[in-house]
Amino acid sequence: MDYPSVLEHIHAAIQPELERGQVATYIPELAGVPPRQFGMAVVTLAGEVHAVGDACVPFSIQSISKLFALVLALQAEGDALWERVGREPSGTPFNSLVQLEAECGRPRNPFINAGALVVTDILCSRHAVPEHVVTGLLRRLSGNPEVTWNPRVARSERMHADRNAAMAHFMKSFGNLRNPVDKVLDVYCHQCAIEMHCVDLARSMLFLANRGVNPLNGERVLTASLSKRLSALMLTCGTYDAAGDFAFRVGLPAKSGVGGGIVAVIPDTCGICVWSPRLDEAGNSHAGSLALEMFTTLTGRSIF
Ligand code: GLU
Repeated sequence: MDYPSVLEHIHAAIQPELERGQVATYIPELAGVPPRQFGMAVVTLAGEVHAVGDACVPFSIQSISKLFALVLALQAEGDALWERVGREPSGTPFNSLVQLEAECGRPRNPFINAGALVVTDILCSRHAVPEHVVTGLLRRLSGNPEVTWNPRVARSERMHADRNAAMAHFMKSFGNLRNPVDKVLDVYCHQCAIEMHCVDLARSMLFLANRGVNPLNGERVLTASLSKRLSALMLTCGTYDAAGDFAFRVGLPAKSGVGGGIVAVIPDTCGICVWSPRLDEAGNSHAGSLALEMFTTLTGRSIF
């Protein structure tokens, strides 16, 4: 596959789209990110790196961190995790509270905020400094020992976390949060504030493209079965309540974040990351979604 030509083509074609959509503003530190940026990286199972544009500019990974926190919780709890979190698309915004009451404090899936807070709570029960465990995993997967969070973004999000706090208290009232709400929110805001660039994130996805084993160092990250399940969750719940449309257009398991990043995998082939800060109405990167759609169209590769 001629990935360099495909990426160059996408980079040129995407330019007019970089004016469309809005940068997330509800976390004040994110509102200041220069919006006209676009990067994309593909890393093959053999470790070959192909990248264009701003693929080496670090950005706030935000909800993409939910994927890696979930890897750690699955490593620790396996399928017992599903007693506390569901695995159905929510059909509601990522920060919605409405389903929690009807479902007795059990969030619909681990990628909406309520579900991610339960996952973080699980990490808080097992680790003294869970945010270090999340960055540790990302350092091993990306091969970059410098991966860390941006303290200004973490603070900014923590100061504006009223909605996440409401969810956390509500779940605690049902007994589905075991640690103090403040502790869970602190860890959650730090994990969301991790900064990485497209090349490191695409590399960090390789274990999912390789049935749970990091092909670069042979480390088994998840069993093949859990790796399949995580990919399935990404397909059905990874791109907010536009996951159906995203699967229709792109056809890959993916996870997006409000920082404008989207990670994706093509099984047995490669990890992918695309980043552009302006978001569409569902909260996915506008140019990033289009770039992934172009990628699967031009290469003829998807999971279908
Ligand atoms: N830190 C963000 C929040 O909790 C994550 C949102 C996202 O990227 O979906 O609101």
